[in-house]
Amino acid sequence: MKYEVDLLGFYGKYGGSFVPELLHANIKELENNYKKIISEVAFQKEYYSLLQDYVGRPSPLFYAKRLSERYKTNIYLKREDLNHTGAHKINNTIGQILLAKRMKKNRIIAETGAGQHGVATATVCALMGLSCIIYMGEKDIKRQAPNVARMKMLGAQVRAVSSGSKTLKDATNEAIRDWINNPIDTHYIIGSVVGPHPYPEMVTLFQSVISEEMKKQLMDKIGRSYPDRIIACIGGGSNAAGAYYHYLDNNKVELVSVEAGGLGIHSGKSAASSILGSDGVIHGSLTLLMQDQDGQIEEPYSISAGLDYPGIGPLHAHLIRTGRTKVLYATDLEALTAGFLLAELEGIIPALESAHALAALEKINFRKQEHTVVNLSGRGDKDMQAYMEYKNRKKDGKK
Ligand SMILES: *Cc1c(COP(=O)(O)O)cnc(C)c1O
Repeated sequence: MKYEVDLLGFYGKYGGSFVPELLHANIKELENNYKKIISEVAFQKEYYSLLQDYVGRPSPLFYAKRLSERYKTNIYLKREDLNHTGAHKINNTIGQILLAKRMKKNRIIAETGAGQHGVATATVCALMGLSCIIYMGEKDIKRQAPNVARMKMLGAQVRAVSSGSKTLKDATNEAIRDWINNPIDTHYIIGSVVGPHPYPEMVTLFQSVISEEMKKQLMDKIGRSYPDRIIACIGGGSNAAGAYYHYLDNNKVELVSVEAGGLGIHSGKSAASSILGSDGVIHGSLTLLMQDQDGQIEEPYSISAGLDYPGIGPLHAHLIRTGRTKVLYATDLEALTAGFLLAELEGIIPALESAHALAALEKINFRKQEHTVVNLSGRGDKDMQAYMEYKNRKKDGKK
């Protein structure tokens, strides 16, 4: 495939493994083992059986009739929102926990920003009886209380990080420090297609079950295995990578990535990491990220906590720069509006992240006979407060 990672872990010029010397051995151990382990028959069997019986896969591909009528085309929703724990993140944590067990790692660490990846990690650790430590910025702990409670109920230890801006990137630094100090018994579960090689590739493979199912489901529904277009939101890019994966080499499929435009992409308050980004190293890989002239990473902003990340995975940087994917953005307001529209037209309340992908429907000229899949990455229960605040503001006549 044209878009596979090379032997050194690069997608074109992006990716690689830019980590402290002390981490090289851990990364190498993972790199040397993971491909062999995940292609074993016994691994595949256990992975797919958990995806089916625990996660609830395959997730349906739903023909959204009223939404289709509104945009005068054919729109399907890939229902990752129906997965156990409410989003696509569990596909990856199931894969990585099975890998950790086979590598005899019985202590799991992860970092989390909004808490969604922390919950998905705590969930699989409980399932497998492994000890779980989640690093989380102090500021995020305050902002994301319900997810902190979930992680604790699932038996995870949540460690508050009080350095730096007390958010995701500081939590990441702490997790890396922990891994350096505990190389033998610990596996570090990264939650998106970011981080040093082989994480971007590994997480992409675990999420690729999304497009694998789509192929079969489209064949059943429209008599061919590919759509004309796939739309997905991008934080780090894992749900998008999974939804695109089996179509990367099929140029008949247009791939649309939607970034968080926040209060407007030139407002200084957004997370439009590729649109505003330039080449730099974040989280151990070379990619596109938002930085100032001195190379300081800029603080991202989005109403949606899952998209609030200053970079994108290196696969996406490559896809964007080679023109394979097209990037759009949606502002907070556009996402909120799209969230309400889906609720009203289809009876589905999307996660605010997924609502960004839906907002892009307003920005595309559809043809009637086309088939478009929107990857509905998660459900909106966690976002009810933001939705209600918006509704009340509207009622009061304010913008
Ligand atoms: C975390 C999250 C995202 C963003 O992460 P990606 O790695 O870009 O997929 C999107 N949607 C939901 C529901 C999430 O929880």
